[in-house]
Amino acid sequence: MFVSTNPATGQSFARYAAHDAPAATRLLDGCGRAFGRWRDTPLAARLDILLRLAGLFEDRVRDLAVLSSREMGKLLPEAEAEVRRCARVCRFYAKMAPRWLADEPYPAETGRRMVVHEPLGVILAVMPWNFPYWQVMRAAAPLLACGNVLAVKHAANVTGAALALEALGREAGLPDGALRVLCIENGLVAGAVAHPAVRGVTLTGSARAGAAVGALAGAHIKKAVMELGGSDPFVVLADANLGDCCVAAESARMRACGQACIAAKRLIVEQPLVAAFTENLAARLAAHRPGDPLDPATTVGPLAREDLLENLDRQVRQSLEKGARLVLGGHRLPRPGFFYAPTLLTDVRPGMPAFDEELFGPVAAVTEAADAEEAVRLANATDYGLGASVWTADTARGLALARRIEAGMVAVNAVPRSDFRLPFGGVKRSGYGRELARSGLTEFSNIKTIVVE
Ligand code: NAP
Repeated sequence: MFVSTNPATGQSFARYAAHDAPAATRLLDGCGRAFGRWRDTPLAARLDILLRLAGLFEDRVRDLAVLSSREMGKLLPEAEAEVRRCARVCRFYAKMAPRWLADEPYPAETGRRMVVHEPLGVILAVMPWNFPYWQVMRAAAPLLACGNVLAVKHAANVTGAALALEALGREAGLPDGALRVLCIENGLVAGAVAHPAVRGVTLTGSARAGAAVGALAGAHIKKAVMELGGSDPFVVLADANLGDCCVAAESARMRACGQACIAAKRLIVEQPLVAAFTENLAARLAAHRPGDPLDPATTVGPLAREDLLENLDRQVRQSLEKGARLVLGGHRLPRPGFFYAPTLLTDVRPGMPAFDEELFGPVAAVTEAADAEEAVRLANATDYGLGASVWTADTARGLALARRIEAGMVAVNAVPRSDFRLPFGGVKRSGYGRELARSGLTEFSNIKTIVVE
């Protein structure tokens, strides 16, 4: 049984029956049959269905947003923006797929040489709760355009959103089983990976889940993409525009209540700017108004689950014990639900959880760097490598530093985000493989070479 709990109140409001192992196998058998139908559907007809799906997202923005907001606590405007982005990613691939999937001729002295892109089959998508629609559609839009089908194992706390997506796909005209939700416990994922119709696995989530599911995919020699956590450095050089970088740092720690993989997590500031940066950021964080995510006056909602709040509180407490300084917050809010006070820590150093682990919540951690060289060393002193940003008035210097940061994406004077026109993914413990752009369309294709003499 999966239970949806409103993190703003702590009250459960929906229950969903779980699929047991035989039911999961039957559903995956159905996905396998759907793959045959979907693969043989002409590309133009597949893309028409993707466009219909985009239209349905646009028609249902409000209802879908209220559902995800109630399940995981996101502010309503953020949830609405997420649904609209799902529509846009469908439209993007409907437009780009014909060009990106076209046969590629290669030079040949005689006969013909070419590469064609063919879908692989059923792709198992293990997904997190933090962007319950976007994370699925970021994977699904290119997979479906390419001719693959998806079996989605979503996070247990957003089962309502997962089933709403499945229903939308059906309404758009996808064959039954082409976007199928498996309501399974994590222990049944091994069986799903092993199912013969499953030809690939894409997981978005923590490094812990990535290690477990990546090992299963490896054991079955199935292609995998791992979009994992991050501890993104946000490097502020002394010549940076203070206002711009403080607005960006505030947004990184407060948007989605700080629960975004690509959000800045370690704020590494060159010494001359530390005091002004800290003061400015503290004022911004202190002005936030926690409350019901459906209330337009609220500027920061709850954390998605109580265990996540407890882990965040542990990270803050242990960092303080190891010498970090508390400027703001640092405690659970005394109200129902899973609210944590907007928090600012300074004097954060390697060896503290606020530096070494991923902070998933409204906690900003400031680390002082003596100069730009130390800032780059600190930026790379992490197991993760998802995103990063560099803030400086000298963009040429920013670009030079960006090249030295170990991450899948680095922005200079901008906030890294998952933009569907650009590849997205990490290095180190942030994972491997890429989603979005052309990479997202071809990651799960058979890049087949054909030689004709
Ligand atoms: P999570 O606990 O790793 O869960 C992700 C998904 O994996 C959920 O469906 C979860 O199911 C499942 N799962 C967890 N352990 C598993 C296991 N041993 N075997 C099989 N499945 C397992 O992560 P989360 O708390 O949902 O999401 C937050 C994490 O995701 C953060 O680390 C964040 O940075 C990362 N993330 C990364 C990206 C990216 O693009 N790189 C994007 C968004 C989020 P249950 O929920 O039922 O346990």
